[in-house]
Amino acid sequence: MPLLDLKRQNASLKNDLDAAWSRALQSGHFILGPEIETFEKECAQFLGVRHAISVSSGTDAILLALMSIGIGPGDEVICPSFTFFATAGCVARTGATPVFCDICPVCFGMDPTDVEKRISPATRAIIPVHLFGQTCEMDKLSALSRKHDLHIIEDAAQAFGASYRGTQAGTIGDFGAYSFFPSKNLGGFGDAGLLVTNNDVHAERARVLRVHGMKPKYFHPMIGANFRMDALQAALLRAKLPHLPAYCANRKKNADFYLSELLEIPGAALNADACLACNCGFSNDCPDARMLLPFSLPDNDHIWNQFTLRIKGGKRDAFREFLQARGIATEIYYPLPLHQQECFADIVGQLSLPHSETAAAECVSLPIFPELTRDELAEVVAAIRAFFT
Ligand SMILES: *Cc1c(COP(=O)(O)O)cnc(C)c1O
Repeated sequence: MPLLDLKRQNASLKNDLDAAWSRALQSGHFILGPEIETFEKECAQFLGVRHAISVSSGTDAILLALMSIGIGPGDEVICPSFTFFATAGCVARTGATPVFCDICPVCFGMDPTDVEKRISPATRAIIPVHLFGQTCEMDKLSALSRKHDLHIIEDAAQAFGASYRGTQAGTIGDFGAYSFFPSKNLGGFGDAGLLVTNNDVHAERARVLRVHGMKPKYFHPMIGANFRMDALQAALLRAKLPHLPAYCANRKKNADFYLSELLEIPGAALNADACLACNCGFSNDCPDARMLLPFSLPDNDHIWNQFTLRIKGGKRDAFREFLQARGIATEIYYPLPLHQQECFADIVGQLSLPHSETAAAECVSLPIFPELTRDELAEVVAAIRAFFT
């Protein structure tokens, strides 16, 4: 069983995708143009945000956000260590310094208490990452940003369609960056991303920077780059967008099945331990747990881009091998926290972020894609039960 099977999803959309493809081909518009504009309007409407700017990837969405608010050399930007590389890589590419903070061990989000400790006079922004499809504790992070006058760029690459207290993830901070990398909930057909904002000035700068900082044509008040999404991509994504709520609902159904079945296994517990970090109110009463299951915070509509367990007692790799031998693919998101990556050694020095390090050592993600059958889910559960008995 694969971790993700895109062919199943795309097969059911074949007619719509074929129609979108030929419509875009026949239009002759391949750079920006009507498909892009319509896709951006549809995304803005879906997300309830003023401006949606399509871009070449989720990585470029983060980079463009940083460029739009003028982050550069001498600035510091705080980001979590336990995330995909792009979150911090983009900061370094602007010439600014990524400052790594720890995560909440329950929701995997940025820990507001730890963020506050790392704020310096050079700090300009924070990048909360809505990891695995669940929004960070944005109320606390927003309060922190107001108190210290910091920009918030939400890395919502894994959270298109998630919401927090009724507001879409990615639309709370100054900017939200989404990815349509094929493994995301709204998976595209190659690389693509989206940048959103409710701020008209930010939006205008981002649109100009997306085309080399050019306005009007061949005149460059700013230095930008080529961050455009292909019109063909937009046409295909438009065919998928209306199905996103159903995809997310199916992922949630799969997560609920895993949660109820896996909790029956001796030694399994919800990962609601030790959330002293972001004060989300849950305490650890299960120190003997062998497997911790992902926990969704109340008021937080989790879209389950990943279903990520923690396997305790140094058994994570054995767990993976056991499932692999039964034909079940798993993945480790992410095996090495960013503050321990070779490329950041010079800027980080000695730094200990215990929750990030533990997560990297214990985490494993199971297949959760929307088209999984009940039989397949049951097979995964049976294999996990066999591992623990
Ligand atoms: C996927 C991802 C990105 C980058 O998106 P791309 O479209 O692959 O460039 C950034 N941050 C996180 C957390 C991601 O999961």
